[in-house]
Amino acid sequence: MSGTGTDKNILDLTPDELEALVTRHGEKKFRAKQIFGWLGKGAGSFYDMHNVPARLLSALAEEGWFIGLPCVEDEQRSEDGTVKCLFSFSDGSEIESVFMKYGYGNSICISSQVGCRMGCSFCASTMDGLARNLTGGEMLAQVLAMRDLTGEDIGHVVIMGMGEPFDNYDEVIRFIRLINDSDGCGLGLRNITVSTCGLIPGIKKFAEDVPQVNLAVSLHAPNQKLRERTMPVAKKYGYDELMDACRKYTEKTGRRITFEYALIDGVNDSEDCAAELAGRLAGWLAHVNLIPLNEVSGREYRKAQPDNVRRFRDALEGRGVAVTVRRTLGSDIDAACGQLRRNRNR
Ligand code: SAH
Repeated sequence: MSGTGTDKNILDLTPDELEALVTRHGEKKFRAKQIFGWLGKGAGSFYDMHNVPARLLSALAEEGWFIGLPCVEDEQRSEDGTVKCLFSFSDGSEIESVFMKYGYGNSICISSQVGCRMGCSFCASTMDGLARNLTGGEMLAQVLAMRDLTGEDIGHVVIMGMGEPFDNYDEVIRFIRLINDSDGCGLGLRNITVSTCGLIPGIKKFAEDVPQVNLAVSLHAPNQKLRERTMPVAKKYGYDELMDACRKYTEKTGRRITFEYALIDGVNDSEDCAAELAGRLAGWLAHVNLIPLNEVSGREYRKAQPDNVRRFRDALEGRGVAVTVRRTLGSDIDAACGQLRRNRNR
């Protein structure tokens, strides 16, 4: 939470940290709970907090504390209810969040970093590298701002926007604690999903720290050779080692893992790839989510043909692997993450 130029964002503080702050100002502990509650309701100013003494709020503002909600720089609304938003924070950093409506409720996809340094060759977010990490409070701020913008409740959060969550592990955990706290938003841990490109130390820690949170792993290939071709991270954390860590994760937590697999025309969408993947996952507590590639301008890859998507799905299903094809929400807007930011800044 340091070194970002946003050190005094009050949204970063856990209830315990807020308690320490208000008691330092000579106030009773319960004031922290009140402030935390207002923040969870989306208060945009200290002066919305009617039941908190004005002298405390003024003292906090004088000390430099602020409520770090982002500004809306751009917004796209799809006919299916998807809202994609380009947010900016006070240092000018721009990130994307997406609101989606599903049968099971409303969901938001948030970013964990400004840019990304993982270098996946099909992804738009990584094209300019990593600018900085987001803080837990800035992740929370995306949820609060999107709730305000859409006027809708948000029942699920997925950390699948820009950035690699396990490259910013501590702040992702801070975010999870903040949004889960019953004095704030009170979002259930089982309603949160974190997606990683496969940073093994993160997977191991995650199983210890928050076993109730859902884990998704971006696999995108049935073997090391193919994975290395699109995902540089595979050179550091090899396929066998990754699958081993994933299996241990399911054994330790008893939770199913979701494997994400973006289908790229002529690269990883053959029936042979499906058969090899099925062989890898036989008998696993796992689920494969097939994503027809979102084509990114400036990237060479094309999305798999619909027939090949169906064949790939059937080949997995026929071998007993649980599989879904991701509904392409917001296909009439700049759906793939990182694209809104790039298209605007070009
Ligand atoms: N860094 C994390 C989360 C961010 S991306 C991760 O790698 O999991 C969320 C998902 O979208 C990942 O599975 C990622 O590989 C995938 N993705 C990125 N670019 C894509 C594109 N152009 N089309 C389809 N999926 C893409």
